Amino acid sequence: MEMNVNPLNKWVKMNRKTMLIAGPCSVETPEQFLATALEMKKLNADVLRGGIWKPRTRPGGFEGKGLEALKWIKDVKRETGLPFATEVGSPEHVELALKYEVDILWIGARTTVNPFTMQHIADSLKGVDVPVLVKNPVNPDLALWIGGIERIYGAGIKNLGAIHRGFTAFEKSKYRNLPNWQIAMELKRQFPQLPVICDPSHIAGNRDYIEEICQRAMDLDYDGLMIESHIDPSVALSDAAQQVTPAQLGNILNDLVIKSETSSNAEFISQLELLRTQIDKLDKELVEVLSARMSLADKIGEYKKENNVTTFQQGRWEEIYNTRREWAQKMNLNADFVSEVFKAVHSESVRRQEEVINNLQENV
Ligand code: PEP
Ligand code: MN
Repeated sequence: MEMNVNPLNKWVKMNRKTMLIAGPCSVETPEQFLATALEMKKLNADVLRGGIWKPRTRPGGFEGKGLEALKWIKDVKRETGLPFATEVGSPEHVELALKYEVDILWIGARTTVNPFTMQHIADSLKGVDVPVLVKNPVNPDLALWIGGIERIYGAGIKNLGAIHRGFTAFEKSKYRNLPNWQIAMELKRQFPQLPVICDPSHIAGNRDYIEEICQRAMDLDYDGLMIESHIDPSVALSDAAQQVTPAQLGNILNDLVIKSETSSNAEFISQLELLRTQIDKLDKELVEVLSARMSLADKIGEYKKENNVTTFQQGRWEEIYNTRREWAQKMNLNADFVSEVFKAVHSESVRRQEEVINNLQENV
């Protein structure tokens, strides 16, 4: 679906090629928020973040200061000159956020999972001109993420983007939330105009990993970063382990290598052109080989039909699997990668053979 949305630099003034949204996980006190915000301003953040309502997985944690904190926003915006973004989880939040001049709304991962709530929020945004960012749902379901984005788009929001914050892992893993980068890449492929921002803080869950995730996002050409920073993370009321001090954030930003999608270096351009021509040629050969292979599989299908033999034969599949892995290793290829390719090739062969057999049956 064509999504006619505006690039991030049409939403707010941007200091870099990519947008930086930074600030504490939660707005806790006027002092904590102002002190952090002033540091974010010094680091040339484009937008301040801060949770007003906090969706906690278990009851009993700090659930945000709500309305009380909303009243502190105006002063901080005036002192820093920065727009402010917060999470909304219901039409009531939307109404209050707009009343207190929140500039950008985001929808949290625990809200995106619910189409009823997303539709209620979308309905409350009809006729309102406010930028909205939709975080990925907690589960790795691209369709649910897209569905949430489409509901907000359907409300007429043109300053619309996505935030990639990773996906819940049941097994213990290095990161708090698994990045599953390919899901965000597929979102970008399907909706090239849609800005996608990476939230390394909620992917990492630990401040030591923020920098490597930021760099990965920059290498993958994300449109921005949303990073949690607290004036004193050791006393943060939420997400203490993943928040960085403003000084640490400054170091992360300094170390980041920002790459561009193209280069004006003529030597680079001609070399790239040359290598890509060779890749195109090889890919064409790959497709030709696959086509020849499938024709052989079709013929085998006909013989199997005539001789009442099953399309899938465990022994043959194991032989294919093992030999191709061995060949891969000898050619310095990753054996798991080659296995994946052959799983796809083999299941397509089986599918085609079934088709051949069914067609032959119909003709009888
Ligand atoms: C947050 O940004 O502080 C937050 C609660 O994020 P998420 O919805 O990604 O868990
Ligand atoms: Mn947080």
